[in-house]
Amino acid sequence: SFLEDVVPQAPEDPLFGLMAAYRKDTYEGKVDLGIGAYRDNNAKPWVLPVVKMADEILRSDPNLNHEYLPIAGLQDFTQPSQRLILGPDSPAIKDKRTVSLQTISGTGAVHLGALFLSKFYKANTDRAVYFSSPTWANHNQIFSNVSLPIKTYPYFSAKTKGLDFDGMMSTISSAPEGSIILLHACAHNPTGVDPTQEQWKKIAVVMRERSHFPFFDCAYQGFASGDLAKDAWAVRYFVEQGFELCIAQSYAKNFGLYGERAGCFHFVTGAAPDAEKTIGRIASQLTILQRSEISNPPAYGARIAALVLNDDKLFAEWEANLRTMSGRIIDMRKALRSKLEELGTPGTWNHITDQIGMFSFTGLNEKQVLTLREESHVYMTKNGRISMAGLNTQNIDYFAKAVDKVVR
Ligand code: PMP
Repeated sequence: SFLEDVVPQAPEDPLFGLMAAYRKDTYEGKVDLGIGAYRDNNAKPWVLPVVKMADEILRSDPNLNHEYLPIAGLQDFTQPSQRLILGPDSPAIKDKRTVSLQTISGTGAVHLGALFLSKFYKANTDRAVYFSSPTWANHNQIFSNVSLPIKTYPYFSAKTKGLDFDGMMSTISSAPEGSIILLHACAHNPTGVDPTQEQWKKIAVVMRERSHFPFFDCAYQGFASGDLAKDAWAVRYFVEQGFELCIAQSYAKNFGLYGERAGCFHFVTGAAPDAEKTIGRIASQLTILQRSEISNPPAYGARIAALVLNDDKLFAEWEANLRTMSGRIIDMRKALRSKLEELGTPGTWNHITDQIGMFSFTGLNEKQVLTLREESHVYMTKNGRISMAGLNTQNIDYFAKAVDKVVR
């Protein structure tokens, strides 16, 4: 084949490789802390009660069919999605300065944004997108695929296992004017470390001074704190400050709709007399990109989310379900920290409860991670990240003791 010498073997996706290794392990007490998907206290996937309710409503609708959705997706889904992330009274909605397209979950939204920016973002000549170090591994691939140069800003301090705020600020303020800065809206993946509201305000100040473009990746709204508005605070603050920005919104975690691929991409322009016209042009280009990439998005997950987002009763049930998930995770954080402290495990463990969301960056090194896998059948990524949702009242003692052993 003419491809013989030019198509090298690609490495296996590390996360999906880890899942395969876990499945192969026959040890009964094995612990899966790899993949970022919610598990209940019995380590089982959890279909949200509100999703079951919406599903029943959908199934009983005699007019439901399998026709294509419009290119930009289901309006009953994209409109309330705007209100959910931007806030119901957002000026960016009232002024019609926001365009929203339904996407293939958060990944598709990040991709659509990256593709649009690669084509149209020309704010500076040596343009680049800046990621936190570390970031969700897929960011690198998605932006590389559309040939946007990638740089990083410091984010995680190995010493405090918290935010390296000075490092972050210093790189963002020295980045060429008009750089694209990718920000995790809440529950940073993989570290679980978020800026405080005071820190967000300072980040906004430098970004404004340097005319940077914020690209918010929001994969955990409501899942992080249990409070939808709180988890959207940073995005809403930047919009209030008049930034032109974009948002990738995923419903995988907060609705448990992982495989249904429900998500949304939003582009918000700054307030200007001709903003509505500008947004119309942006919408027309996004529509063409979407058409060439996926034609139109999948319907089922968006229909489920739309039913819930547009109905007060279902919405309240959803909020209760969010509190169940975030509450269980917060309980596991407290339990893990106190168990390690009781065992007198060397080091400090306050970061376990300081961090938020699906993940915790434990500070365990690669060698310790591999020892945990070989000796204790505990599976986590090599960077020491654990999915908090993999812990439950039945395995947390076992896990704490395994960590204690490997740290000593
Ligand atoms: N961004 C971040 C930071 C994430 O953690 C995830 C989920 N792993 C996503 C985007 C997108 O996930 P999905 O495509 O399943 O919505």
